[in-house]
Amino acid sequence: MPYSYLSHLYCPKTGERYPAGRVQQLSQVGAPLLVAYDLQALKETWKPADLVGREASLWRYHELLPVRDPANVVTLGEGFTPLLPTPRVGQDMGIRDLWMKDEGIIPTGSFKARGAAVGVSRALELGVSRLAMPTNGNAGAAWALYAARAGIEATIVMPQDAPLITRNEVYACGARLFLVDGLISDAGKQVAQAVAEEGLFDASTLKEPYRIEGKKTMGLEIAEQFGWRLPDVILYPTGGGVGLIGIHKAFKELRELGWIAAGRPLPRLVAVQASGCAPIVKAWEARAKESEFWPDSQTVAFGINVPKPLGDFLVLEALYESEGCALAIEDAELLKEQRRVAELEGAFVCPEGAAVFAAARRLRENGWIKDNERVVALNTGAGIKYPDTLTADAPLLQPGERLPR
Ligand SMILES: *Cc1c(COP(=O)(O)O)cnc(C)c1O
Repeated sequence: MPYSYLSHLYCPKTGERYPAGRVQQLSQVGAPLLVAYDLQALKETWKPADLVGREASLWRYHELLPVRDPANVVTLGEGFTPLLPTPRVGQDMGIRDLWMKDEGIIPTGSFKARGAAVGVSRALELGVSRLAMPTNGNAGAAWALYAARAGIEATIVMPQDAPLITRNEVYACGARLFLVDGLISDAGKQVAQAVAEEGLFDASTLKEPYRIEGKKTMGLEIAEQFGWRLPDVILYPTGGGVGLIGIHKAFKELRELGWIAAGRPLPRLVAVQASGCAPIVKAWEARAKESEFWPDSQTVAFGINVPKPLGDFLVLEALYESEGCALAIEDAELLKEQRRVAELEGAFVCPEGAAVFAAARRLRENGWIKDNERVVALNTGAGIKYPDTLTADAPLLQPGERLPR
C-alpha cells in the first residue's frame, strides 16, 4: 500500500488540474489549489480498524495526506489532541452536550503546527530549500520552527506589534526575521517582492496547497474520536479560514470513503470572528460569494485578524453547504468568556478559542443551537501564548503579613 493516495491538485474556481509532483503556488486565476486523492482506490484497502495502534499524531491519517515518502515527514508530535467534555461551561450556557477540541497542547502552542508540519514536510519532499511568509504571529512561529527542523531556511515578516512571544520563537530558531511598521497586508507585499526577486517558496496562507491538508486532520480526529458519528455543530475561530475549509473537506472525503454515514447531514460549521474584523460575517449576512476588505481591523484575538482572506469563497461555500452560520464577538465579551472557561473547566484557552465559546453561548440563547445537539468548540491555541491579554488584579502583601479574609 502506498503511504499517500495523493492524486493531483485542482483549481476550485475553474476545475483545472495541476500536477502534484512539483512545487505549485496559486492557480492560473489566482485561487488556492486544493489537493485530490485517489479515494476510489483508497476505499478498497483502507478501513477505520487500520488506525488501531497507530501513533497518536496527525500522521496516523497518512493515506489522506500529501507526503509520499515517510522519510520526508517533519514532525514534533503534532495532532491527536484531546476532545474533552466541558459539562460545566456547557451547563452554564444551556448546551448539555458541549465538547472542546483542545489545540492548546500542540507543539508551538497553536494549531498552526498542523499546517506547518504537513506544509513543511511536503515542501521538503518537493525540494524547497528557502521559504517565506508574512504572519500575524502564530503561523510564522510554527513555520519557522518546523522549517528549522527540516533544515529549510525561513524568512518571516510580521507586524511590529504582533505578539512578542511569536517574534521570539522565530528569533530562537534562527530564521530571517523582519518586523514591519504596518499591517500583515504590508508584510504580505514585502514577502511577494522577496519571493519574486530571490526565488523563495511562498508559504503565505493558501498560496501553497498543503497547509489545508494539515488542518484537515482536525476534522478527521473529531470524526474518529466520536466513533465516526459527527457532531451537529462545530464552531471555528475564523481568520484565513484554513481550518474551516479543511474540516469540511475532511468530512466530504470521509463520506466518500464510506467511513461516515452518507445520509446524515454534515455538521453545521460556524465561522466565529471578532467584531473588529468580521469580513466573513458581513459576507455571510449578505449571502455573498466573496468577502470585502475590512479596513482598520483590530482585535485582541490576533490569530483571527485577517481583513481579506484569500480563501473567503471556500469558507463561505463551506458555510452555505453545511447550513452553518457566521457571527462576530466583541473583544470585551470574549475576554469575559476566557475567564469563565478557565474558572469552570480549568482550561486557559486562547482569545480566539474564547470567542468560540462566547459564540456558542449566543447561538444557544437565540435558539440556533438546539437543546439536544452535540456541539464542538475548537480552542485553537494556548492562553499562555497571550501573556498580555489579561491583567491579574491581586493584593500585594509584605512578608509576614496575614492574608486578608
Ligand atoms: C491563525 C489562527 C486562527 C485562525 O485560523 P484560520 O484557519 O486562518 O482561520 C485561530 N486561532 C489561532 C490561535 C490562530 O493562530
